[in-house]
Amino acid sequence: MTAPAPDSWVTPCPPDQGGGLWVAPGGFHIDPTRPVGRAVITHGHSDHARPGHAHVLATPGTLAIMQARLGEGAGLHRQPLAYRQPIRIGEVTVTLVPAGHVLGSAQVVLDWRGSRVVISGDYKRRPDPTCEPFEPVPCDAFVTEATFGLPVFRHPPVEGEIAKVLHALSLFPERTIVIGCYALGKCQRLITELRRAGYDHPLYLHGAHLPLCELYRGQGVELGELRPATATDGAAMRGGIVLAPPSAMADKWLRRLVDPLPAYASGWMRVRARARQHGVELPLIVSDHADWDELCQTVRDVAPGELWVTHGSEEALVHWAGTQGVKARPLHLVGFGEEE
Ligand SMILES: [Zn+2]
Ligand SMILES: [Zn+2]
Repeated sequence: MTAPAPDSWVTPCPPDQGGGLWVAPGGFHIDPTRPVGRAVITHGHSDHARPGHAHVLATPGTLAIMQARLGEGAGLHRQPLAYRQPIRIGEVTVTLVPAGHVLGSAQVVLDWRGSRVVISGDYKRRPDPTCEPFEPVPCDAFVTEATFGLPVFRHPPVEGEIAKVLHALSLFPERTIVIGCYALGKCQRLITELRRAGYDHPLYLHGAHLPLCELYRGQGVELGELRPATATDGAAMRGGIVLAPPSAMADKWLRRLVDPLPAYASGWMRVRARARQHGVELPLIVSDHADWDELCQTVRDVAPGELWVTHGSEEALVHWAGTQGVKARPLHLVGFGEEE
């Protein structure tokens, strides 16, 4: 008996039926955008981990993040599943494998009747002290994100971006560097990279960033001394580093700081117009998503029977895969944002 075609059992689901991907022989959705009966969640970012599902299966890290962010909405029944522990849901064997994106992030490996589909969720290939590295899993169909799926997106080494921050600190000791960054993942990664570069002063955090930093600490990620920016006098933070959500960067919140020097950490900072548009003086190209080279390398490493591309610039990667002899097509999933 030949194995079933991947697209006969894993299919994009229309938003009015839950959205995300639907796995028919297992009776569950992956990263559904609307409340569903049974959801498997790849990671805690808000476009993937939405509230209101009856049953949620995810890694312990992702469940803890969902609990912290969504409270009651984190799911009626929450089932933790450790990495590399296969379980059966309906007729499908489900295994979670590290994706290297943020703490707890997982690829979902689905096996059914000799056919294997891997849903990567979001991922990157660079080392990240805050989460386990991505593991390539050979499969019949690989679902990849393509947030930065254009050859123009090449993320420089993170060490160089961190050095820019420390250099700016030494140039402008009277100013306060405030780095706009995502609360989940980016914030904690920047902190660990600053520490790795030898920066051991207290770091000041916007209130929105504190709970997830505490959560990361609880999961064993070392962050050094953190202080709430809100409880600290502006003058005392002069010559220091503040981390804040991107939304606070255009806010009166900034006025509490003495002569703030606005920085912003995102893969999109490769696009100069974006940095200018946000009034960013110090653009930092630090991303938790694979850049073009990482996407291509991952396709080579996974060597899938077919490639399904979602979340971003699908066409360029689909085209490139074709030149490599890999059958590829865009998956038009609705409801997944840029998230950086
Ligand atoms: Zn994400
Ligand atoms: Zn995403």
